[in-house]
Amino acid sequence: MDLQMIKLSMNQNKRYEYFIFEVFIKILIYQSINQLINVSYLFKTNYFLRVFHKLLIVNNIFIDQTDYSFLKMQGLTKKILPQLIVFDLDMCLWSPETYVLDEQPSKKIIGQLGNIGAGVIGVQCGSQILKLFPDVITILQDFYNNKYPEVKLAVASSADTPFAVKIAKNALNMLEILPGVTIRQVLQKGWEDNFEGHIQIGRTPPLSSRKSKSHFPLLLNNTGIPYTGMVFFDDCNWDDNCKHVEQDCIGVVTQRTPNGLKLHEWNQALENYQKKYSSEKHKE
Ligand SMILES: [Mg+2]
Repeated sequence: MDLQMIKLSMNQNKRYEYFIFEVFIKILIYQSINQLINVSYLFKTNYFLRVFHKLLIVNNIFIDQTDYSFLKMQGLTKKILPQLIVFDLDMCLWSPETYVLDEQPSKKIIGQLGNIGAGVIGVQCGSQILKLFPDVITILQDFYNNKYPEVKLAVASSADTPFAVKIAKNALNMLEILPGVTIRQVLQKGWEDNFEGHIQIGRTPPLSSRKSKSHFPLLLNNTGIPYTGMVFFDDCNWDDNCKHVEQDCIGVVTQRTPNGLKLHEWNQALENYQKKYSSEKHKE
């Protein structure tokens, strides 16, 4: 006879007594484990914190009333990451804006890619050089080196003219973030080799100047990833694309990058995503 059957076979009074006894025992176990956690935290012994945290979960003891802020501080709770990170290009990943460039990329400019080694840090487009922002190189290096294994990348850029679109596509195939690794290769990570549905650049049909009405529905359709799984970075210097996407594509977490994507903006967006979706998950 299992525990549930024993409980059902009890009369009302016995059940009440059993309930009190069960609560009493749970309080005792909870307090003992919590004391052990406090001691572990005091000595910053992550291993024991993890073990005790698991014990609380396994025993299903007052899990909702427990204050886990100290575990979050220790980075022990599971990170909730988006499935898809969507980038604008001009003034988000690189500068200057492609519409001001009067020639297609020709010469590769070689320089140091952080401390990693030499690579293509810029492309000559007539009299100007198109370059990635320094933090973008770091972020994409981390991404390529599997810091975010479940995450995929995409592009939503409303480059002004077909000429600018061509510059952007050529530059993606030339600029490097690691020696011999182009941005295009980084963007392809996790996708099938010949898949292109995640790269939406331009404003001629089916695209338009309103990314939320054309680029994003296409990304949704082509990738199968819902808006609730997306984070979007855009400089928003000409039009508030972030606001439009938030309004028209409910669920996307957006981040403005007015001076080009910076590391603190990248971290802020991921933190906002984590906050939004961990609290919503909790409410379910
Ligand atoms: Mg832009």
